[in-house]
Order: sequence, then C-alpha cells, then structure tokens
Amino acid sequence: MSKPAKNGQPSPGRSKLAGLGLQLPPLPTTTVGSLPKQPDLLELRYKVAKGVQNKQELERKERLSTEIWIREQERTGLDILVDGEMHRSDLVNFFATSIGGFAPGGIVRSYGNRYYRKPIIKSKLEWKGPITVEMWRFAQRLTHRPVKAILTGPYTIMDWSFDEHYPSREAALADLTAIIRREVVALAEAGAKLIQIDEPALSSKPKEFPLIQSSLKEITAGLRCYFILHHCYGDVTPLWEKMQQLPVDNFHLEMTNSAFSLLPLMKKLPTTKDLCVGIIESHSHLIDTPREVHQRINSVIDFVAPGQLWFSPDCGLKTRTTEETIGKLRVLVAAVGKTRATLQGKKTSRISK
Ligand SMILES: [Zn+2]
Repeated sequence: MSKPAKNGQPSPGRSKLAGLGLQLPPLPTTTVGSLPKQPDLLELRYKVAKGVQNKQELERKERLSTEIWIREQERTGLDILVDGEMHRSDLVNFFATSIGGFAPGGIVRSYGNRYYRKPIIKSKLEWKGPITVEMWRFAQRLTHRPVKAILTGPYTIMDWSFDEHYPSREAALADLTAIIRREVVALAEAGAKLIQIDEPALSSKPKEFPLIQSSLKEITAGLRCYFILHHCYGDVTPLWEKMQQLPVDNFHLEMTNSAFSLLPLMKKLPTTKDLCVGIIESHSHLIDTPREVHQRINSVIDFVAPGQLWFSPDCGLKTRTTEETIGKLRVLVAAVGKTRATLQGKKTSRISK
C-alpha cells in the first residue's frame, strides 16, 4: 500500500493525473455537480412533462444553459468544470428514467426539506444506451479545462428505489452495477478522464459496505480514468478505515456542514487518496465570507498534506440562486488562491535558505 503524500511530494492520485496528461494546479478547485437552473428552463421542463411543449426546444435550452455555466465557471477560475446538470431532474430519477425496467414512483423526502421521486423497479433492469455521455461531450467541447463526468452510483440508485422485481438487494445491485459499468466504459471511450461517482447512500447501512466495495471494483476495473467518490450528509467515520480499500483515487466529502468532524480521524488513519473537501455551505443562502473559508482551508491543511487536497462546495448547488452560487464560487476560488500563494511563498523561502 502506498504511503500518504508528504508535503511537496505528489500523491498517487496526482501521479495518475499526470499520467493521464492532466496537469492541475496545487489545490485544484471544482464543484460537486449541480448548478442552478434559470426559471425559464424549469418552466420549459414542466411544459414538456405536461406534453404542451416539444422536447427539442427544451434540449436547445439545456445546451444553452450548459454553455452559460461553462463560461461562468471559467470566468470564476475553477480548475475542473462540470456540465451543471441542466438536463437532469434529480440524483436518482434522471438515471431511473434512462434505464429500462424502472417505472416512476411517488415523491418522498431524502433529507431535511429535500424531496425526490422514488422510482420503482418493475422488471429486469437494462442499459438502453449512453445516459450521460452526450452532455459530457458537449460540455467538454466548449472548454480547454477538464470537465468531470458525473454519475449516481448503483448502490444509491438501488437504495433510493422501491424494488418490486428482484429477490434481494444484492440481485438489484448486481444488475445496476453492470449498467453503470457500461456507462463508465462509454464515458471512458468518449475521452472522459475524470469520473465522479455519487454515492450519498454509502454510509446509510454500514453492514452493506462489502456490497459497495465489490460494486465499485467492477465499475472501475481496468479503466485508465481518475475516479472520484462523492459522499455527503451521512457519517463515514465507522467506514473510514474500510473506505481506504475502495478502488477510487479521490474521496469528495461534505465537511463544512459536519463541522470537519472527520479531520481528527484523518490524522489517526491517514489516507493515500486525494481528498476533495467541501469548504462552502451548499444549503445556506448566505455567501460564506472569505475569512470563514480561509479558516476552513487552514484547519484542513493542519490535518492533510496539501499535495492530496482539492477544494469544493459541500454538495450540489442547484437549490441556490445563480447569484448565491457565483458569489460562493468566487469566495472559494479566491480563498484557495490565497492559500496557494502562501504555500508557494513557504516553498520559495525554503529553497532560498
Ligand atoms: Zn452531495
């Protein structure tokens, strides 16, 4: 097993990125995935669902909105961009409507005041064709910066669905894993090098962790991609040690909301993975102050080697307004920029001594 990165040395993930031709700055910045949709896009989506508007107009608007967000992310100065999920409904339902065997279900609460439509597994689940490839390719063609491809993991899709077909959770997960594997292969063939798998259900049933581990093993096997695992709004403390065995390069974790409670454990059980840490509140309307964000970065750097670190908001930003989102992202980029300059200064003064 490789050792955690010491200050100044590239982490195993960094070396992998270099091998993939991706030269990122120190402390790369990114977002989790979703960005706010303009009201006219939401209205168009509603009209298409009601059958009073054709789909082509919606698709045109989704692409236009994607382009606007790509430009905004470039202007803000983020290093790894996202398509912003202008074409998606929610985390699970978007995939359920694209996978054969699901039927739409009722609306249920996921956490807090967040609701989603819980799909129903009616028959054997099947991959009908690429789900995320077209929008990823569209977004990547708009920019020279890397665009992450983002998928919901099979465990979360299974856990957040009603199952009326399979004899067990394992059986449903096996078919969903095969489907997401095909999607990941299609993304890799299209040229995606950074692939993020969202598994917010990861910590919900710790006893099922071995299922997630073998599912991720199957999904990532033999592919030359840098894999990011995103988890949020759940406690990974009991799983942290086992998580080190997962075949991914980067843990992308919400931390501001949970008051950085995982950091002491990271000191005790250091990871060899890169860590993308949430240093911006995703669920607050208030724009985090530069001072707050800078303090959060400093508290993380006390526990994790900077060579392993990336920074991001805690989770998706689709529930924020456009102005709040841009405000939050600007603070993120500025605070990270300040830290980069400080670290660079320390390095230079060490060399000149
Ligand atoms: Zn999240």
